[in-house]
Amino acid sequence: MGSTRSENENENDVKYMREAMKQAVKAYETGEVPIGCIIVENATGKVIGRGYNRRNTDRTTLAHAEITAIKKASKAAGDWRLEGCTIYITLEPCPMCAGAIVQARIDRCVFAAPSDKAGCAGSVVNLLDMSGFNHQVEITSGVLEEESQALIKKFFKELRERV
Ligand SMILES: [Zn+2]
Repeated sequence: MGSTRSENENENDVKYMREAMKQAVKAYETGEVPIGCIIVENATGKVIGRGYNRRNTDRTTLAHAEITAIKKASKAAGDWRLEGCTIYITLEPCPMCAGAIVQARIDRCVFAAPSDKAGCAGSVVNLLDMSGFNHQVEITSGVLEEESQALIKKFFKELRERV
């Protein structure tokens, strides 16, 4: 009622979020905070960009999952504009990544778990849907939320146990 989302779209969201979770596991396996991301071209359903958090590995805060995925998707599309694409992220995007998502003109953002301290898709602020900007991003949250949260919790628990 009042929703334009169909069950079929829901299933797709879960399917693609599983792909993003695979990227998060890659981050986990390299000792990084497990955050993963993929970008899907809506018309074809093709994954055109993937990324996982490599902040410590690459020694730069610019190595967030979303930035890597946007770089790869832009290369694949041959365009900085990623109109007609959906970005799937296992954690709500930070200010930098939310900004990049708006700048890339991505249509839609689906994320798993909220981020109370840095989330810019509604938790702290909502940079994805500001009427003052020239582009707004449709948001869906909570897809595989428990799974993503469990992996992040596991990571931090193990980190605490190591020190
Ligand atoms: Zn970020």
